[in-house]
Amino acid sequence: MPGTVFSLEVNPQIPAKLARLSELANDLWYSWDRPTRELFFRLDPVLWDEVGHNPKRFLRQVEEKRLQEAAQDRVFLESFYRVLSAYDTYMLEQLRPQGQPGLDQGDLVAYFCAEFGFHESFPIYSGGLGILAGDHCKAASDLSLPFVAMGLLYRQGYFYQFIDAEGNQVATYADSDFENLPISPVLTPGGAEIKVGVELPGRTVTAKLWMARVGHIKLYLLDTNLPENSDEDRYITHRLYGGDITMRIKQEMILGIGGVRALRAVGIKPSVWHINEGHAAFMILERARELVSQGLDFNAALEATASATIFTTHTPVPAGHDIFPRELMLEYFGGQIQALGLDTERFLGLGLKSNEGFGFNQTALAVRGSRFQNGVSRIHGHVSSEMLADLWPQVPPEENPVSYVTNGVHVPTFLAQEWRELFDSYLGGEWRNRLCDTDFWRRVEQIPDHLYWSVRQALKSQMIKEVRERLTLQHRRNAGSEAHLDRLLRHLDPLDPSVLVVGFARRFATYKRATLLFEDLERLKAIVNHADRPVIFIFAGKAHPADRPGQELIRDIHRLARQPGFEGKIHMIEGYDMGLARALVYGVDVWLNNPEYPMEASGTSGEKAGINGTINLSVLDGWWGEGYNGHNGWAIKPVHTADPLRARAEEAATLYELLENEVMPLYYQAGSYGFSSGWVKKSKHSMETLLPRYNAARMVSQYVRELYRPAAIHGRRVCGEEYRGARVLSQWKHRVQSAWSGVSISRQDHAPDRIRYGNALQLELAVELNGLQPEDVRVECILSQHFERRNLRLEKNYFLRHEGQTVDGRHRFVLNLEPDACGRMDYRIRIYPYHELLAQAHETGLMIWL
Ligand SMILES: *Cc1c(COP(=O)(O)O)cnc(C)c1O
Repeated sequence: MPGTVFSLEVNPQIPAKLARLSELANDLWYSWDRPTRELFFRLDPVLWDEVGHNPKRFLRQVEEKRLQEAAQDRVFLESFYRVLSAYDTYMLEQLRPQGQPGLDQGDLVAYFCAEFGFHESFPIYSGGLGILAGDHCKAASDLSLPFVAMGLLYRQGYFYQFIDAEGNQVATYADSDFENLPISPVLTPGGAEIKVGVELPGRTVTAKLWMARVGHIKLYLLDTNLPENSDEDRYITHRLYGGDITMRIKQEMILGIGGVRALRAVGIKPSVWHINEGHAAFMILERARELVSQGLDFNAALEATASATIFTTHTPVPAGHDIFPRELMLEYFGGQIQALGLDTERFLGLGLKSNEGFGFNQTALAVRGSRFQNGVSRIHGHVSSEMLADLWPQVPPEENPVSYVTNGVHVPTFLAQEWRELFDSYLGGEWRNRLCDTDFWRRVEQIPDHLYWSVRQALKSQMIKEVRERLTLQHRRNAGSEAHLDRLLRHLDPLDPSVLVVGFARRFATYKRATLLFEDLERLKAIVNHADRPVIFIFAGKAHPADRPGQELIRDIHRLARQPGFEGKIHMIEGYDMGLARALVYGVDVWLNNPEYPMEASGTSGEKAGINGTINLSVLDGWWGEGYNGHNGWAIKPVHTADPLRARAEEAATLYELLENEVMPLYYQAGSYGFSSGWVKKSKHSMETLLPRYNAARMVSQYVRELYRPAAIHGRRVCGEEYRGARVLSQWKHRVQSAWSGVSISRQDHAPDRIRYGNALQLELAVELNGLQPEDVRVECILSQHFERRNLRLEKNYFLRHEGQTVDGRHRFVLNLEPDACGRMDYRIRIYPYHELLAQAHETGLMIWL
């Protein structure tokens, strides 16, 4: 085409009556309020899809005529006013659901994360972690929690995935036009943009602060793409998880250090700080630096910083933990080590993890800079205690401070509209206030089976339509023939959704073992082609662009899906995002997850499936390890062996058996109404047991009760009176640590091996305290009784009392222990440091056993 092409965008004038559409487009409330999104859809369904369900972009492009018609359309206006009324009620009435624990007046939580997933129109997430963070914010808004979130505003977000004709993943990146995102620059009262500086080697990088409204709460985002930065530095916030380790350290410095400075710049004073995964751990250094500059020594500053800080770890997979080389740390923090009042070794020691080499481990820093740590499911909590055990070297892993809060999903975001309507009729609108009430949800059983089933089938039809559209686009783009397309789609009929469909969609990280199903191809072929009980499998998911083996899995599935015998029965769909996730978790019959135990920290897609009546078939790992109750789905028991290939083969065998003997027969056991009442029963049981447990309202309430509130209270104890507690505690810890190697205990009584019931065991210990005082320690006896036949172990702890000295000048500790039962008992004796300002009994990591 000769000549220059100039481009021009014509924006509609939004009629006054509909002016508040812009307000709705600017609040991420739309990401969980389907009636709001429905308004845009109704104005122009085709454009709505074209603009990727992005309301702001939609409002820039929609025909003005359509808006004017809508402004005259009573039916549209009625929906519009209903949405506005719901929105205004939500915003005006800051109601906390009854019985929910709150924070104290003036408390505020700051939540830092490298990614946030709210909706497909706001692409600053890559997968589970981001969507979880988005759900956390949404639930915090629902609970009217004093809460702000901090993240990075990526120009490109994560990549869009195409899959070519050979099954290769093609990663494409598109620049976001910030005008299309539901964000605005944060301004000073005088109208100037708020910017913060972060020192990198030889220069100061400037980051601009943006804000996204998420109902009641605000998400702040930092962006370095500014003219005052060098080209290299403008690139820092370019791409989520893009670039090498140097890019990663720069991004994390902007997030951690810039994030703290940004909150200061807008005058926000958090009393609780939540580091959601190690990427944000540098906030600790910045907050400690602030205190050092106010005159605290580093140890007291770290004590104060840690006192109100929570760290959540999200994965046992090593690649999920950033470890920066020492040289890189010195290059990037060299200038700041002095400002912290540290020497190089002490500084690098903050990121040292004894069992992982000499790099600077962000997880280790996050643990040292927080007094509250948690994993994201029961199993993962235990795995994390083990993984982090070396940070409390003398403490048994099960007693270190790492706890867990199992992840949950935001119900308004991930519950299909069709269920909402059915719940309104059968449970009453009240269900929205009863999200965590397990008794209430038993009422799901009262929904008539045929209505329940018709919702399931309607959602399946919609899913099939969506999958057909996506497969068609993918196939035509890859220049496939129409005849081939017909063959591929012949079993996907939206008008007849009677076929059993199994879904598997998530990131293609290798530990998730997307190809486990293909262990035995002949057996799988028999399953998908069963004469009376055919099964279709739908796969979707992205592999990180640097993850070659992950991309290989996509190719494998793509290739197998084209083999005779599998064609049309197995599908690999490109472009997995939140929109496709919703369609799949709503519409498939079975949600499959078969990770390598115990690598799935939680997993949340199965929770999304479960709340919609889709039945889980999963390895007992992550959330399913506690969600499965024997009846609400199917479980693949992990095979505990050192040989991963054997585990894989055996777990695949279990998967086939479950499909053949349980899933397929139950699904196809058609009753007189044309559906399986056994299936409906199981699906209902799954929904009613999972929804009230694995939702984000429960999760955030639990964070408030078990972590935020304790951290706020502890922070005040340690930081009050000009950080008096922090000074006292850090000096005490220093004293204890210096003396500890000289501490010892020995037994002075003659240790009888039997006593008569009613008598006391008179324990007497001589304790060498090496200069410590008796009140600096606790000497403890743990008595345990094992009841073999009941497989029960009862434990009781007793503290020994300090009583004078032994003849050789050691401290005497005594206890008259009167067991309240007969039988065989074991007891052990130990000593550990104690101070009333400790947040966790064993945070010092010191403990000596007799
Ligand atoms: C829920 C979700 C995930 C996380 O799924 P897992 O089962 O935890 O792996 C990833 N990506 C998208 C788009 C999701 O909606």
